[in-house]
Amino acid sequence: MNFKPIFEKKERPIVIAGPCSAESEDQVMQTAHALKQQDIDLFRAGIWKPRTRPNSFEGVGVIGLKWLRKVKEETGLKVTTEVANAMHVYEAMKYGIDVLWIGARTTVSPFAVQEIADALSGTDIPVLIKNPINPDLKLWIGAIERIYEAGITRIGVIHRGFSSFDDKTFRNTPRWQIAIELMQQFPKLTFICDNSHICGRRDILQPVAQKAMDLNFHGLMTETHPDPDNAWSDAKQQITPAVFKELIDSLVLRKTTSNNEEFLHNIEDLRSQIDLIDNEILDLVGKRMQIADNIGVYKKLNNISILQPKRWSEILSSAVNKGKLRGLSEEFIEKFLKAIHEESINHQEAVMNRMEA
Ligand code: PEP
Ligand code: MN
Repeated sequence: MNFKPIFEKKERPIVIAGPCSAESEDQVMQTAHALKQQDIDLFRAGIWKPRTRPNSFEGVGVIGLKWLRKVKEETGLKVTTEVANAMHVYEAMKYGIDVLWIGARTTVSPFAVQEIADALSGTDIPVLIKNPINPDLKLWIGAIERIYEAGITRIGVIHRGFSSFDDKTFRNTPRWQIAIELMQQFPKLTFICDNSHICGRRDILQPVAQKAMDLNFHGLMTETHPDPDNAWSDAKQQITPAVFKELIDSLVLRKTTSNNEEFLHNIEDLRSQIDLIDNEILDLVGKRMQIADNIGVYKKLNNISILQPKRWSEILSSAVNKGKLRGLSEEFIEKFLKAIHEESINHQEAVMNRMEA
């Protein structure tokens, strides 16, 4: 796929800011004028809001498009809003919205995305596609393909995290690896990090934005509101334009690469050390699986089940303690060992099935 950039600007970060929802003409205009002074690249405001439960504020609807048109006229800023069906697309285009975005609850539904794609066909408006709420990279890619096949080439993606039932830090767990995988597969897409919906709170917006920059994201989408505490939606995560300016000014932008000889030499050296260790890890994991195969045979002969819960929890807690001594987080050790354990179970199962056949 031959994606084109959405923004002309070459230097990072590309900045998209504005309120979660358009609430009133005053609130929209006040936010836009404050953000205009900060030279943002795109002004956002939700007009139709997908809310989890009914009877909460579901957006002002079409009247908000008039306010966005006024933002364009008065400030010269480009504007974007969320579309979730064909009617939204037609209305948004009628009012001259510059960029459309597809929300996380829409990306999950191929029917909805196809309806939007069909409505877009024949236009060349840029589209930003948020990740689906569930951590399914294929579904995200599917939405990109549907929009691309409708003839849209200026496509970007917005990483806004994935819903989780037990994350205590984030509103939506980032699972950066999924965005990184998408970057590897589609390096020409524009990558935006929506730190507001990942965090769900103000105090960690900065480190998440910095992390996105360190992972080579092109830009940020951050919800800004003149009076965040009294916002009609997502009050806890919105910040004032002034605080937003501090956030942007605080970002450290590192180069994606360097031509400096000494740097290249040293990094090459460190990378070959990493490669050696990765090979050793793979050798060891391979050996571990051979032993798992033997255990599978032995359990089969003795008619013993594969999963031994007591043994597994002993392995896990001892590894967590050992990992801590080596500077490894509990979260990482758990993920790492669970993956190894799963593979080990698969090996034992395969051996047992083979013996049965
Ligand atoms: C939003 O950007 O306000 C929004 C509704 O986002 P998401 O689709 O990521 O939940
Ligand atoms: Mn929001």
